Amino acid sequence: MLIEKYGLKHLSTGDLLRSEIALQTPLGMEAKNFIDKGQLVPDEVVIGMISTALETNPDVPGFLFDGFPRTDAQAEALDKLLQLKKTSIALMLALDVSEEELIKRLLNRGQSSGRSDDTDEAVIRSRIHEYENKTKPVADYYSAFDKVVHIKGEGSVDEIFNALCEEIEERKH
Ligand code: AMP
Repeated sequence: MLIEKYGLKHLSTGDLLRSEIALQTPLGMEAKNFIDKGQLVPDEVVIGMISTALETNPDVPGFLFDGFPRTDAQAEALDKLLQLKKTSIALMLALDVSEEELIKRLLNRGQSSGRSDDTDEAVIRSRIHEYENKTKPVADYYSAFDKVVHIKGEGSVDEIFNALCEEIEERKH
């Protein structure tokens, strides 16, 4: 809904990794070992993929990064890549959802997504553990530049979408 409303290019590192796995590339095979355990894929793999995606989309009005950056090192690398393009991150949107609700949603999605990392509760818990240790600190990185907005990620899709749009509109100018 956001990419449609704002004409952005959606870049999801998870989607990019899953397409590498489907194509059985060496990168995909390496990434699969981590994904199946609920661990983050090494920074250099993900940063390389994002760098290529930025190069191959030179003329888009903007990007919506989804599931990236997930570590401080990724955030720093992204800043450097964007600097080369004389641009920067406008906003980090953090959707806050309770752990219980996250587990429920992922197990539910696992019934139709075919994603091996959505079906096993132990893997889901490991993903949440990785988030707490490595991804949560990324908000502090962007807070230092006053770029973080927290939004309640529970409620209906429309409620959450409207809350996101309000925050974006407020900071657009
Ligand atoms: P997602 O589709 O965003 O839920 O990501 C699924 C899995 O792909 C994660 O649990 C990680 O193993 C891997 N992954 C996706 N994005 C990243 C990232 N930015 N850094 C490291 N690993 C990632």
